[in-house]
Amino acid sequence: MEIFQDVVCPVCGCLCDDIEVSVENNKIVKARNACAMGTTKFLNYNNDRIPSPMIKNNGVQKPVSLEECIEKTAEILVKAKYPLIYGLSLSSVESVKVAIELTEEVGGVLDNQTSVCHGPGVQGIHDIGESTGSLGEIRHRADLIIAWGANLQEAHPRHMERYSYTSKGRYRNGKEDRNLIVIDVRETLTAKAADKFIQIEQGKDFEFINALRTALRLEQIQKDKVAGVPVEEIEKLAEVLRSCEFGVIFFGQGVTQVNGKGRNIDGLFSLTRDLNSWTKFLIMPARGHFNVAGVNQVATWQTGFPYAIDLSRGYPWYNPGETTIIDIIRRGESDATLVVGSDPIAHFPPAISKRLINTPLISIDPAHSMTTMVSDVVIPSSFAGIEYEGLAYRMDGLCLPLKKLVKEPDNTMSDEKVLKMILAKVRELKKVN
Ligand code: SF4
Repeated sequence: MEIFQDVVCPVCGCLCDDIEVSVENNKIVKARNACAMGTTKFLNYNNDRIPSPMIKNNGVQKPVSLEECIEKTAEILVKAKYPLIYGLSLSSVESVKVAIELTEEVGGVLDNQTSVCHGPGVQGIHDIGESTGSLGEIRHRADLIIAWGANLQEAHPRHMERYSYTSKGRYRNGKEDRNLIVIDVRETLTAKAADKFIQIEQGKDFEFINALRTALRLEQIQKDKVAGVPVEEIEKLAEVLRSCEFGVIFFGQGVTQVNGKGRNIDGLFSLTRDLNSWTKFLIMPARGHFNVAGVNQVATWQTGFPYAIDLSRGYPWYNPGETTIIDIIRRGESDATLVVGSDPIAHFPPAISKRLINTPLISIDPAHSMTTMVSDVVIPSSFAGIEYEGLAYRMDGLCLPLKKLVKEPDNTMSDEKVLKMILAKVRELKKVN
């Protein structure tokens, strides 16, 4: 039995780095400290693997060699005028770097899950600026935690225990020294655990944020209720926010993907900025996939832009709403798509998924998904943080090392290696042509 200490969990944006993993005969048998989500991945990642590289022939996927798949993928990408490369939130930083190089080489667009989850939050950084910090700082100092449209308890099960509400820091002794306020449209498990739950009406976040900013400035709100919440309650909330020593807002897709989207985020970032006139206040997105933040980080170093990067002009161009994957597919502009570790067919609107399969579709993925099932080329890969090592970025922007715990199956390799092989073949074909 081999025991790995301080393993980083490759599931959600918390990237808990205290997991103890026991491995027996190249099989993970125990994952101490991991939550139910983490344990499920560590113990069951190997279920439903793609057994072999495959190419679709007369509508049926048939096993072929890896080399054939690489060649076919390179041919599709070289032939395409405007290919898309999408996903990578479950890949390492190193894989993302190669994907960007490949996108540049084929003159396409690189996008990731950010464009359908926390994109508005990323744009809020451009529009307003972000007052932020590390989860460690929050753990040691925060006495007020706000979860806004974010169900921390279910989406990031150890967030409160390790970094926020119940965590024990240097200056805060857990729950007794902190206040958790949940602002949401429904009573989630996080809301049930909170000191205070403020239920607002669906789609009224923007109004509520503005009312709160008004109350914060000690100005009068000319209504009895805003977003279904009595004005006296909003004024009391403003007072709680003003009088804390160190506050933080964690926001989720309950803010970024509802009516108002980017306007909600501009409002929340502005609210945080306003609060810093009174006290210390941070804001942070509760990011989902374990390395979705890493894609934004790497893309920003490499191209200057965090996602939806169009490299077809010979220089990077970024315009969410125009260069985001769903918009490109909706306009019928793309003519091939390479998906890395993602399942857009299951998650995109049906009309977009339908269009996606009208052009050549390639999947690099360790396990079966709806997208791999309809792909023209399927390349099996290994799992980052279990079968290959690399780096990933936590939701607060801290970079952590992922470990290799077990050997990958014989016919698979990391998506970084697969992408490098495709890139080399693309360069070879371009030279010949
Ligand atoms: S909270 Fe997230 S990162 Fe931590 S153990 Fe659970 S799934 Fe893994």
